[in-house]
Amino acid sequence: MSNGSPGAPVVHGFPHLDTVRSAITALYRRLSPDGVHSYGTSLVPADAAFSDADDLHLGAQRVARALVQHLHLPDARMIVGFRTMEHAASVELTAGPEYFIELNDRFRTHRRDIGAALAHEITHVLLHRLGLEFPGTRDNEILTDTVTAYLGAGWLLLDAFREDATSRQKLGYLTPEEFGYVLAKRALAFDEDPSPWFTSPQAYTAYTKGRAQALHDLRRPPLTAAGWAGRRRYAKDRRYAQDHPGTDPGTGADPAVPYTFEPGGEGLRVSFPCPTCHQRIRLPVRGRTVARCGLCRTRLECDT
Ligand SMILES: [Zn+2]
Ligand SMILES: [Zn+2]
Repeated sequence: MSNGSPGAPVVHGFPHLDTVRSAITALYRRLSPDGVHSYGTSLVPADAAFSDADDLHLGAQRVARALVQHLHLPDARMIVGFRTMEHAASVELTAGPEYFIELNDRFRTHRRDIGAALAHEITHVLLHRLGLEFPGTRDNEILTDTVTAYLGAGWLLLDAFREDATSRQKLGYLTPEEFGYVLAKRALAFDEDPSPWFTSPQAYTAYTKGRAQALHDLRRPPLTAAGWAGRRRYAKDRRYAQDHPGTDPGTGADPAVPYTFEPGGEGLRVSFPCPTCHQRIRLPVRGRTVARCGLCRTRLECDT
């Protein structure tokens, strides 16, 4: 896991949003909606709590066991060690059932973030066992952070983000706002509120920014909850598509526009991402309708 280069400025905003959304889709496809919803409660703060009075190795093993249980890996055993290394942590992905996790030596004196580092590494083990991976290190790490957050252990990673006058720390590949986004997507899908768990003020701020982005996903056309400006643009693009069948009005190139029109068997169809799992949904263009996402089964009120 990346350390986020201590001392370097922390990247903010949503530069990895496309990959994050693909990761959520891939997770629903691999686990099924029932599988995803079997992770209905997040890891509780007490399970990852680690005080300086705790024995270093026994404490790390205890937190690792809690994460193994949380991530539904009952027969996996994590052996946690510490050494001098460039990265924050790493895990050896083998057939198991024993897995060796190495944590950066600095965690000996930063124990409260051991849970965050272990959450990411143990999610690597889960994804390895599921056979779920993205090509390339960068995308695969984004997948790992996204799944850690979506399955209820990733609030620890966001909470490890702290800045004060003299120091700065951030773990993982997602920006703080992107962690906030995935946590808010989870919160919306599971009817959960992670905000009381944050101990870092910067983490809480990032969560609120990510949550605003997640709420925006619910208000994009053709969903009926879309705002006036979005609906107006949608009507204009639809008119163009009806008048120029088979040509792209340019919506495909504009990242702010989530939908595209395409010719269907019986007239125009609109294709847009599900606001929950981001799988693309295709509907005939014919006014108000209620659809259900074929992947995550979210009920969607639309005006196509
Ligand atoms: Zn990693
Ligand atoms: Zn869906």
